[in-house]
Amino acid sequence: MLTAVLEPGGDLTTLLYVLSFSLFIIGIKQGTSPTTAKRGNMIAAVGMAVAVVTTLLLDGIGNWGVIVGGLLVGGAIGVVASIRVQMTEMPQMVALYNGVGGGAVALIAWSEFRHGAGGDFPLEEFVPILFAAVIGSISFWGSNVAFAKLQDLIPTKPLAVPGQQVINAIILVAVLAICIYLGINHDDDPSQGLFIAILVLAAVLGNLVVLPIGGADMPVVISLLNALTGLSAAAAGFSLDNVALIVAGTLVGSSGTILTMEMATAMNRSVPNILFAGFGGAPSGPSGSTEERPHRSITAQDAAISLAYADSVVIVPGYGLAVAQAQHAVKEMADELGKRGVEVRYAIHPVAGRMPGHMNVLLAEADVSYEKLVEMEDINPDMPRTDVAVVIGANDVTNPAAKDDPDSPIAGMPIIEVADAQQVIVIKRSLSPGFAGIDNDLFYLDKTAMLFDDAKTAAQNIASEITKL
Ligand code: NDP
Repeated sequence: MLTAVLEPGGDLTTLLYVLSFSLFIIGIKQGTSPTTAKRGNMIAAVGMAVAVVTTLLLDGIGNWGVIVGGLLVGGAIGVVASIRVQMTEMPQMVALYNGVGGGAVALIAWSEFRHGAGGDFPLEEFVPILFAAVIGSISFWGSNVAFAKLQDLIPTKPLAVPGQQVINAIILVAVLAICIYLGINHDDDPSQGLFIAILVLAAVLGNLVVLPIGGADMPVVISLLNALTGLSAAAAGFSLDNVALIVAGTLVGSSGTILTMEMATAMNRSVPNILFAGFGGAPSGPSGSTEERPHRSITAQDAAISLAYADSVVIVPGYGLAVAQAQHAVKEMADELGKRGVEVRYAIHPVAGRMPGHMNVLLAEADVSYEKLVEMEDINPDMPRTDVAVVIGANDVTNPAAKDDPDSPIAGMPIIEVADAQQVIVIKRSLSPGFAGIDNDLFYLDKTAMLFDDAKTAAQNIASEITKL
């Protein structure tokens, strides 16, 4: 029989919690550079282990059978999922985990409400419980819809009903009205039925807010839901009087908010526009039918010649590089060029791939030196003096429609201006569109040559052709 050894709010408990969130903060700090990110993740995981063990050792912790069962089932699912998930599936994994966090917070709020009901229920505990219930429930359902969209379980294009905004506003007002009513009457025995009504209405709101958002905007939404889950967890921490939960929730809430703003800025959109404009998915027209347009296609040998005799080459990696796991082959190709005195740099678009920092992580994995990675705003002015821009598995982040077509779903998104380079080589398997589902005029420019192949095979072939020159 395990016995509790720590007092809630005691000195040792507080010390262990301070240790745990100090480790979270160090972990997050290390996560800001690809070279230290893995270690940062481990440090934060140790911090979480300290917080969990400390909480489990608290006096009056509860039913050990349920706790151990939950740890075993949750741990097993987490281990199997993390081994099997592909890098390219990370956004939906984050959405799923985030949803679970929001759901857990909503259930904690409900449980606390049931325990406190009928007794002495101070307002400073009551308000965080209501907040955690509403936001946790929105986050759970919204995240599940986001997961289903990214996993192609439901259509990724915006699904909206007429008068959607009005319906959402009415539900929100109803939730707030019930919360205020319960808050005013918190000293009486508050109604369980009304609390359940809050959870259900927030669930409907979570679904209705996320369903109209299109696929390309989904990462921003996931990041926002992540921030909301953090804030709801912090609220649950107030009602449970658990300082580790308050700090961890606040860290998730603030970092999620910063990430949301950064991603929205990178797409040149405002967060309200992403949430309420109802676009961001593939247009319904036959925009993918690009087979008829004339384009120039080349072989790996042609590409090798253009690259080997260039002075300056800029590689623009995108989602296809991640799918093909081409990072090592691309590094090899760049090394061959380097041996011939060609200056090779990598242009990093903030939303290339499927998660922030995706390209940095992949290239760091292949030991590409960090100084060779150049951010979009720094590389764009250099494009006109670049001999060859090689676009590898990237599409939307190079699409001139973002600048030239105000009706494009990606209008206003800053792009890597590859069309300004002297020559462009695009490596991908076909003329198919990318994530936003729109055609790319870059492929049909006179200066653009298409190399239709898998990114890894193409990079390997080019590297081997360069060695023969
Ligand atoms: P895109 O999705 O626009 O294009 C990727 C291209 O890769 C496709 O056109 C595809 O063409 C090609 N491709 C796929 N597999 C391979 C392969 N094995 N070998 C070679 N090419 C391949 O990617 P980008 O990186 O340019 O843009 C990212 C998009 O994702 C943006 O719209 C962004 O808003 C969105 N987004 C960004 C997130 C982030 O935080 N980074 C998160 C989620 C979405 P083909 O099939 O012809 O090979």
